[in-house]
Amino acid sequence: MKVSEDHPRYRSLVVRERMSELVREGVVAPTGLIAHGRGEAFDYLLGERTSPSALEAERAAAAYLLEAKRPVITVNGNAAGLCAEGLLSLARAVPAKVEVNLFHRTPERVEKVVSFLESVGGKDILGRQQESVLEGIASDRALCAAEGIASADVVLIPLEDGDRAGALVKAGKIVLAIDLNPLSRTSVVSNVTAVDELTRAVPNIERFVRELKDAPEERRRVIESYDNQHTLREARETMRSVLQGMGKT
Ligand code: ATP
Repeated sequence: MKVSEDHPRYRSLVVRERMSELVREGVVAPTGLIAHGRGEAFDYLLGERTSPSALEAERAAAAYLLEAKRPVITVNGNAAGLCAEGLLSLARAVPAKVEVNLFHRTPERVEKVVSFLESVGGKDILGRQQESVLEGIASDRALCAAEGIASADVVLIPLEDGDRAGALVKAGKIVLAIDLNPLSRTSVVSNVTAVDELTRAVPNIERFVRELKDAPEERRRVIESYDNQHTLREARETMRSVLQGMGKT
């Protein structure tokens, strides 16, 4: 199907093509395409734009990242494929460490994703060596780097699965999620959930990092007044009103 560049679906089609190319290159896992499709469906229900409550969550995420002593941003194949430059730029702005952490972990895929990040300017990317273990999850998915996730106090997890998000919370970390599904286990267990598309959320968080960098009192006020249950309710409410609006046309 040929879609013109000004068609609203054009961007999604370009992204899909790019994601399937990255599956061929081994950066994105084949099942990553399924997760991507689920994200697209939820984004429809959000009207494919950032809601005011997602913006609040993104501001709170920025505040937590700046207040952290050892902030880490985790990157999987999908996150790298969709938003490598944005995530690296955010990591530099905080500054935060970046750790590659894969659901389907093989040394070859870790190498592919780390090299992919390095090819777009990433430096000191963690993940090739993961000698620590997160309690409460099975096998390879529990592995993490001692100087990264294992010793982090705040972890930003774009597109993470619920088991690992829960294990990070149990390990006492502040967990900041970006997830288009407000019903997912990741969204529900995290301390902050930006119910937003990754490529919209990450630049917003970076903008708030710059805004709050020299405003320590304001960022502590943002953290104190933030309520993730409220954010999740508002995200569901946005979806409900988008669906109702569709019914009226
Ligand atoms: P959980 O394990 O947290 O209950 P899940 O089984 O749906 O949820 P996964 O399939 O591991 O989780 O993760 C994919 C999640 O990422 C989905 O919730 C999906 O909506 C979300 N997602 C996919 N693409 C994007 C994107 N581009 N931006 C934000 N979120 C996305």
